[in-house]
Amino acid sequence: MSHDYDYLIIGGGMVADAAAKGIREKDADGTIGIIGEESTAPFPRPALSKKLWTDPDFTEDDAALGTADETGATLHLGARADTIDREAKTITTSTGQSYGYGRLLIATGGHPRQIAGLAPSARVIYYRTLEHYHRLRAATADHPHVAVVGGGYIGTEIAAALVQNGSSVTLVHPDDVLGSRTFPDVVAREVDTMFTDAGVTVHGGAKVEGGSTTPAGVRLDLSDGTTVLADLAVIGLGIEPAGVLARRSGLDTSSDGGIVVDEHLTTADPDVLAAGDVAEYPDHILGRRRVEHVDNANEMGAAAGRILAGSDEVYDHTPMFYSDLFDAWYEAVGTLDASLRTEVVDKPDGGKVVYYVGDDEVVGVLLWKVGDGVEPAKKVLAAHTIPDSFDDLI
Ligand code: NDP
Repeated sequence: MSHDYDYLIIGGGMVADAAAKGIREKDADGTIGIIGEESTAPFPRPALSKKLWTDPDFTEDDAALGTADETGATLHLGARADTIDREAKTITTSTGQSYGYGRLLIATGGHPRQIAGLAPSARVIYYRTLEHYHRLRAATADHPHVAVVGGGYIGTEIAAALVQNGSSVTLVHPDDVLGSRTFPDVVAREVDTMFTDAGVTVHGGAKVEGGSTTPAGVRLDLSDGTTVLADLAVIGLGIEPAGVLARRSGLDTSSDGGIVVDEHLTTADPDVLAAGDVAEYPDHILGRRRVEHVDNANEMGAAAGRILAGSDEVYDHTPMFYSDLFDAWYEAVGTLDASLRTEVVDKPDGGKVVYYVGDDEVVGVLLWKVGDGVEPAKKVLAAHTIPDSFDDLI
């Protein structure tokens, strides 16, 4: 059976929700279809590792985005788009359906990287979706021992969430000090201490190289020769952008698999756009890049929706990103790479502004427990210079 939509969105995440709402800003009537591989409606991913664990009064209903109700979009869930025929303007899905489109948005996001030999199972969760949240909630009801793998966003936020909810947590990550790839030493040590003080067993300096599930739990084999045994493993090793569908249909993809778009979020095909984690776009301050964070998903998704519906706007929003860990929090813009020169400016109440300095300009700003700094940080980055003094910039 074939359905035709004026606007078809491949991907059922936050970008799809924002895009459908963006379409409605410009077109009240055009038909919208959303094809989502996940079996659940678009859901705000930040809640999956933050508020649903840390705020007892916050429910899934509070988080719900209401995509279909608010926009009239038809959701086709549990279906993966397998092919795009750009000449016929149709797509076909893993469930054997075909859909025609007037204009198409590819918002396929990415898939979690996996450890060879350690397949997803009831005891091994490569954490990304609402369904994973449900499984982890059920599996941690009796406070088991959870091995959390990865020292990035998922690893740190989930380890903090689980230990605060009574589980016993071992966090395995490759760095000597947790966060030291991202933060200067003074901040990374504060992060590491927060986790150990909260009761997390932090196992640094090791990658998980393999493992297996057993009837009783999971066994992880580490690069330092040790083994971690736990009741279950939650893993966050980053994502691979899901650009293969675009590449198969002859669209440009970048070396890491992102889909190349211009400042109108449009591919070389004027009727096909891409947005979100999967889109490699020209950021007007930071230059070409992909950004895997929620502010980008929301703003780029909304812009893509408006552009699909006829807006000639340029996407000129430089996204920020943020994280909450216990009582600490931060916001940031640009590239946080601790191998660069960093300039740390202390602020009252323990806050710090950290500037990441490249060859001839500041490339990233971390606002560690410092509020209202995002717009000033963008100004520092937009200046494309190295200031004489960092003291009073923010
Ligand atoms: P990240 O890229 O943030 O972190 C991956 C981590 O895994 C790194 O610490 C990496 O270390 C480590 N790692 C890689 N391989 C191994 C291994 N074999 N054993 C142990 N550790 C390993 O990805 P996440 O999975 O945490 O997040 C997935 C996506 O979700 C990202 O797109 C992220 O931006 C997004 N997200 C964003 C949030 C936010 O903005 N607050 C919150 C949650 C998710 P190394 O760097 O040394 O390779």
